[in-house]
Amino acid sequence: MKIRVLGSAAGGGFPQWNCNCPMCDGQRKGTINAQARTQSSIAVSQDGIRWVVLNASPDILTQIKHFPALQPGRAIRDTGIASVVLMDAQIDHTTGLLMLREGKILELYCTEPVHDDLSVTNPLLKLLTHYCEPRWHRIGFRPEDVFSPIGAEDLEFSPIPVSGKAPPYSSHRDDPHEGDNLGLSIRDKRTGKTVFYAPGLVQIDDKVEAAWQSADCLLVDGTCWTDDEMAQRGIAHKLARQMGHLPQSGPGGMMEQLARFPDKRRVLIHINNTNPILDEDSQERAQLTAAGIEVAYDGMEIEL
Ligand SMILES: [Zn+2]
Ligand SMILES: [Zn+2]
Repeated sequence: MKIRVLGSAAGGGFPQWNCNCPMCDGQRKGTINAQARTQSSIAVSQDGIRWVVLNASPDILTQIKHFPALQPGRAIRDTGIASVVLMDAQIDHTTGLLMLREGKILELYCTEPVHDDLSVTNPLLKLLTHYCEPRWHRIGFRPEDVFSPIGAEDLEFSPIPVSGKAPPYSSHRDDPHEGDNLGLSIRDKRTGKTVFYAPGLVQIDDKVEAAWQSADCLLVDGTCWTDDEMAQRGIAHKLARQMGHLPQSGPGGMMEQLARFPDKRRVLIHINNTNPILDEDSQERAQLTAAGIEVAYDGMEIEL
C-alpha cells in the first residue's frame, strides 16, 4: 500500500496565520530550519490510482494541487479521491469536505456520533447535499468492525477506539461517546503489511497496544513536545493531555512508548506549530532522530 502525507501539522497549520510563537515567527522569518506544513490529513492507496483520504483538512485544495495523483484527467470532471474516511468530527479534520462540493458523489465513512455532530450541531453534511451527494457509510468503532472503503478493496480498515473528546461544538462535548475518536489499523490483504494511524492519541490502552503490536508502521500523534507547551508560550491553559494528545517527552510520553518498538517504522504526525521538533536543528529533534523516530512532512511517502 502507498501512504501519502497530505498535511502533517495540527489544527492551524504551520506557521499558523495569527501566531507569533518562536516556531511560527522563526519559520516566517527564516531564522529557524523548519518547513511549512498544512493541516493534518493522509491518503492511502492500493494501486496508486484510487486514493482514500483520511480526514478532510481545510487545506485540501492546496494538498490536491501538490499531489498530481489526486487530479487525474480521465474525464471532464475527475478525481483520484475514491472516498473519504473521518476519524472524528473536529473542524481541522472535516471542513475540507466543503471544498469537495463540486464532486458528484462523496463516499464518506464515519461513525454514528461523528455523523450526528456533522448533521445537527454543525450541519455540514446537510449543507453539502445542496451541492453534491454525500453518501454516508456507517462504520463501527471496534477492531472487529473491519471495512474496506470504495477504491481500496484490498485494504482492511480496522477502527481502534481512542479516548478523547468530541469537538468543542458537539452537543456531547462533556459526555464522551465511543466512536467520537478513532485510530485506524490499515492492513494490505495482499502483503499483510499494516499501518496504524492516529493523529489524536492520548492513551495506549489494551486495544491500541494490540494494534501497535501487529503494525509494521506507527504513524501517530506528534502534537506537543511537553504537556504544558501551550501554557509555556502563553497561548492556552490547557494541557496537551486534556486536549487528547500524549506529549512526546517526559515519563510515559510518546517517545517512551515508541521506544518499546525499535523494529517498527515510527513517524510522528499532526505536529502543533508550537512544537520545537519542527526546528530540524533543535535538540528536541535530535533526541527523536537518536531514538529512530521520524517527523512527518507534507509530501512524505511511505510504501508498505
Ligand atoms: Zn487535528
Ligand atoms: Zn505558533
